[in-house]
Amino acid sequence: MIQTAYRCPRCEQTVRGALSDVSFQMVCPQCDQSLAVAGDTLREGQIHRCVVCSGTDLFVRKDFPQRLGVSIVVLGFAASCVTWYHHQVIFTFGVLFATAFIDVLLYLLMPDLLECYRCHTQYRGVANLDQHAPFALETHEKYRQLAARTAGQENGHITTGST
Ligand SMILES: [Zn+2]
Ligand SMILES: [Zn+2]
Repeated sequence: MIQTAYRCPRCEQTVRGALSDVSFQMVCPQCDQSLAVAGDTLREGQIHRCVVCSGTDLFVRKDFPQRLGVSIVVLGFAASCVTWYHHQVIFTFGVLFATAFIDVLLYLLMPDLLECYRCHTQYRGVANLDQHAPFALETHEKYRQLAARTAGQENGHITTGST
């Protein structure tokens, strides 16, 4: 069973749901928008194209909540300030080292997830994740520019319409 989280194309709410080989239907609980899914999307527990935008460019990344990582670093830094203030130098370095260690450990323990470059839909519990490539900045940049261009075109339409 694959768990997915995507942004509804109609109402932009985050929708969470499960996909399986047998039945596949994603309906937004907010606006009842259902997604039409191509037949080759899901095969043997693997995602072959994005459910939401049908894009085939997907990348693997750690399911690590960035906010948690930042919180740990901030906490560690705050604690080290306290020990530093009390002239406990060894303790200060100990705290900073422990903070970094916890961050790395958590990162390693976190499972992988699959994400779509174009619409950032996330898939958890996908089989054979190693068949997908890790994050590539080049591809990310391609989609970022594509999105920027699309947004620019939409703005252009508005300005030509008003004149
Ligand atoms: Zn919706
Ligand atoms: Zn997508």
